[in-house]
Amino acid sequence: MPPNSIAETVASLMPRAKEELTELVAFRSVAEFTTFPRSESEAAATWVATTLRNEGFRDIAVLDTPDGTQSVYGFLPGPQDAPTVLLYAHYDVQPPLDEAAWTTPPFELTERDGRWYGRGTADCKGGFIMHLLALRALRAAGGVPVNVKMIVEGSEEQGTGGLERYAEQHPELLRADTMVIGDAGNFRAGLPTVTVSLRGMTLLRVRVDTLEGNLHSGQFGGAAPDALAALVRILDSLRADDGSTTVDGLVDGVAWEGLQYPEEDFRRDAKVLDGVALIGSGTVAERIWSRPAVTVIGIDCPPVVGATPSVQASARALVSLRVPPGLDSTEATKLLAAHCEAHAPWGARVHFEQTGQGQPFGAHTTSPAYAAMARAMSEAYPGQEMQYAGQGGSIPLCNTLAQLYPETDILLIGLSEPEARIHAVDESVSPQELESMAVTVALFLQHYAQG
Ligand SMILES: [Zn+2]
Repeated sequence: MPPNSIAETVASLMPRAKEELTELVAFRSVAEFTTFPRSESEAAATWVATTLRNEGFRDIAVLDTPDGTQSVYGFLPGPQDAPTVLLYAHYDVQPPLDEAAWTTPPFELTERDGRWYGRGTADCKGGFIMHLLALRALRAAGGVPVNVKMIVEGSEEQGTGGLERYAEQHPELLRADTMVIGDAGNFRAGLPTVTVSLRGMTLLRVRVDTLEGNLHSGQFGGAAPDALAALVRILDSLRADDGSTTVDGLVDGVAWEGLQYPEEDFRRDAKVLDGVALIGSGTVAERIWSRPAVTVIGIDCPPVVGATPSVQASARALVSLRVPPGLDSTEATKLLAAHCEAHAPWGARVHFEQTGQGQPFGAHTTSPAYAAMARAMSEAYPGQEMQYAGQGGSIPLCNTLAQLYPETDILLIGLSEPEARIHAVDESVSPQELESMAVTVALFLQHYAQG
């Protein structure tokens, strides 16, 4: 079937896709059950399972994962000897944050200015609809040419690792020749992009102690070692003058060879104030995708309001270190702690507690699967070529899958282009992107099946 007919079929299926996405968005499926009722997530899981059943999937299972949430699995058999492709999305969503700040209610899909607004429209309920559209278009074009395993996770946003643990315990379940993770997005709407690199991360609590208790700053200040001042020194030592991250012994990542991120675009996307410089060195793409980056994400010290004239006995910070592909997060954590210890002034005592860690991910981009995706993207987006981008954040499931199935190609694509404002107030999806990406997935499966 030529690409045109796939595109025409997907276009004709869009009204139904909008109705389905409206139903799915209406579930308040935030996998944080102290604030959002578990029944909302369970109802969303049931909706996904029912939809898969109606699409002809078999072996449908609502899996109880070790974190107390549910992921939905289904298998759609293809022709004999066809390869198996895993399609991934997640039905849980980020909390809506300040619901009153949304222009229209977060759990009511609303069309405005050519976009569909609502929590999860792009991340990642729309990703599930994207996969469905692709499979329907293929069926209309004569059949789905591969075996499809669909997995729709129920707790991606909470980072509780339920599906990762489940996959480790049931390694056959998600085994596939290629995996399409529909939870990323194009670098810009209309610019087809595969995300080929994800930075890992480590989270380290750093506590500094200098005194048995707080002291009056008039009586003791000037000689008494100040824990907050010591902490500031330590944190400052993690950056060079230009703001680059400097952790003793940690190599500076690798050169970036994919898409470039023009500095002006980055300034605009990041809303950097006029006259304020970007930090770091190298290209913007290198700084955010292929180099380590330290960020102090919290400090425990007295708040300004109510502060007393005291020299602090203790102070604490939470330091995040993003770890690019090619480096090991465990090793980076050790180096970060050793660096903080070595840079503590005045013999201050430093204690560490690691509160999180994920490994970086780097895709193998020379495989037939990548070639099939490049062809699919250039057909689905006429006049464009597939771009390689990185993502500064982590998707821990990718690491689990890469470790469990080292031979499998993992392709990260999706609907979360910058205008989608995922995780923020007024999240939306571009229906044009949904349509084009569904065409991409369908053509990819065709090309991939042909080898
Ligand atoms: Zn997501």
